[in-house]
Amino acid sequence: MSDLRQQVQRLVVDMSVCAGHGLCYSTSPQLIDCDDQGYPVVLHDLSSEDDVRAAEAAVVVCPERALNIEPR
Ligand code: SF4
Repeated sequence: MSDLRQQVQRLVVDMSVCAGHGLCYSTSPQLIDCDDQGYPVVLHDLSSEDDVRAAEAAVVVCPERALNIEPR
């Protein structure tokens, strides 16, 4: 039997390549907010199918490839 806690994922921003133009939080505002400088702030782990879809949409839309979905 699998442990559901091991399946929780998170969206991670690589700030070394993020350009701060905001496509991710415009696309998935339920998952990503922005700070005062316009850089993304991930609000919570991916605990539902909707969260995963929102994360995947943000990953796809980011032109800098700054977003990754990783195990928590
Ligand atoms: S879309 Fe990508 S590069 Fe732009 S703010 Fe979001 S994470 Fe950064």
